[in-house]
Amino acid sequence: MEVQYHGKTIVLTTGTFLNGLIHIGQNHQSGGRFGEPAVTGLSASLKEIGLELGRLKTGTPPRLLRRSINFDKIEVQSGDEPVPYFTNWKEDLFHVEQSEAANNRKLFGWDRDQKFHVEHFNKYPPESILDKIGSQIPCHITYTTKSTAEVIRANLHHSPLYSGKIHGIGTRYCPSIEDKIVRFAEKERHQIFLEPEGATTEEIYVNGFSTSLPFEVQVQMVRTIIGCENAEILRPAYAIEYDFCFPNQLRPSLETKVCQNLYLAGQINGTSGYEEAAGQGLMAGINAARRVNGLDPVVLRRDQAYIGVLIDDLVTKDTTEPYRIFTSRAEHRLILRQDNADERLSKLGFEIGLLPKRHYLESKARQEAVAAEIARLRQTWSGSRTLAQLLCQPECSYRDIISTDVNLSDDIILRVETDIKYAGYIARQEEEVARLKNLEDKQIPDGFDYQAVPSLRTEARQKLLKIRPATLGQAARIAGVSPADIGILMVWLKRGSTPSRVGKA
Ligand SMILES: Cc1cc2nc3c(=O)[nH]c(=O)nc-3n(C[C@H](O)[C@H](O)[C@H](O)COP(=O)(O)OP(=O)(O)OC[C@H]3O[C@@H](n4cnc5c(N)ncnc54)[C@H](O)[C@@H]3O)c2cc1C
Repeated sequence: MEVQYHGKTIVLTTGTFLNGLIHIGQNHQSGGRFGEPAVTGLSASLKEIGLELGRLKTGTPPRLLRRSINFDKIEVQSGDEPVPYFTNWKEDLFHVEQSEAANNRKLFGWDRDQKFHVEHFNKYPPESILDKIGSQIPCHITYTTKSTAEVIRANLHHSPLYSGKIHGIGTRYCPSIEDKIVRFAEKERHQIFLEPEGATTEEIYVNGFSTSLPFEVQVQMVRTIIGCENAEILRPAYAIEYDFCFPNQLRPSLETKVCQNLYLAGQINGTSGYEEAAGQGLMAGINAARRVNGLDPVVLRRDQAYIGVLIDDLVTKDTTEPYRIFTSRAEHRLILRQDNADERLSKLGFEIGLLPKRHYLESKARQEAVAAEIARLRQTWSGSRTLAQLLCQPECSYRDIISTDVNLSDDIILRVETDIKYAGYIARQEEEVARLKNLEDKQIPDGFDYQAVPSLRTEARQKLLKIRPATLGQAARIAGVSPADIGILMVWLKRGSTPSRVGKA
């Protein structure tokens, strides 16, 4: 049955569903996730509008029954304390009120219009997730053994990966356990994390143990892991191949170049991972909504957010294997810190209507308090040195040099310490950002005709024609485009007129 969705703009987030093919041993079956149907007709229609698709692969480990694991034999790994949050406003996002009746709980939250919502969670049992907020459930660390490697080696011929059944390219950052046993043959054991899937389920996720070997082999393999000698598998591990769209066919707004108003986000763009999908989904959603309202797209810069690095990499570079974001991918990572995220993004969030005014004002007040304290430390002398100079000493903390009557919150103190201790490095990185800003700000018109720029090298011309960068900064990051090519483009753009054959986008 054909289903049609109509919209002024569309955001496609197909995950692993696009022509998904699940492999368990030599069995393969169409599926998007275990027990869910794949999406089969869409790839053809994407190709029809001119998008080039490729094939990638990912995998997932088995899920075990919690009570069948012997936790006495393995090491506890507790969560971070204090619990870190993505947001500065966690107390506003939700809080839980426990009424007199133990099972009558409410979850409170504000929406973007600052309307207050209350949801009742009567359906959860007393040991529900809401009881666990504030006290995290620990994970456990365990290891594979020599027997694990033996079982895997004896069954490699049943693996769809090693028998050539799987053609998609997998993520190098999450190799399957059979990959690890083959590639790192000298290692006697591999670390495994046993992670609860949630507070209300008995399922344990065996992190580090993804495999596509047959189910009977998985049972044997699992029982060679320390603590899992009697473990029961609730759901088998599997590998999955799926279609993706080469993301250099997208604009930095995540709109496809070939089809206006169609946006792609998440795994369909060749990424893998929650944060990658969430970051793109947010930006594609923002930009699809702005297009409907006739507004310009929002594009985060590389020096502004990891999302900026992620999307710029996707639309600029060749993605041939699943992409994950890492701090090491960000050249400006000293200024992309968790503690200054609100400083980087709250003004923008407020301006585009995503951050409530009171949060923006709070963030502004926090930044002013940080700046005032830094200025005070730079101007206050203690003997022959300022307090800021004292704080620069590696062994010295804010609390060591400041009397206890200063009443600043811990997050402001952390910001002050970081800014003062790393001032030299941060200033250097800010200079670098300012130097590159000219290139980042220089827009390249949509239909710019690279064929008409005579002195560009052929490789550079081909790459520029393929990627069609939005700015000179993006052009400079394309592999195969040299600083000399950028110099030539700069001259053409400075002339203010695009080459004569413009208009054949
Ligand atoms: C089992 C498993 C474990 C994972 N573990 C981790 C992990 O620990 N850490 C990590 O970072 N990443 C993990 N990932 C990867 C991560 O989940 C994905 O990269 C991410 O969720 C992709 O997001 P997405 O929005 O692109 O697609 P998805 O989250 O897959 O969303 C696709 C959506 O399409 C919907 N859909 C399917 N068919 C139709 C249809 N016909 N019509 C309308 N909607 C449809 C589906 O219901 C689904 O909601 C895991 C993935 C899997 C499958």
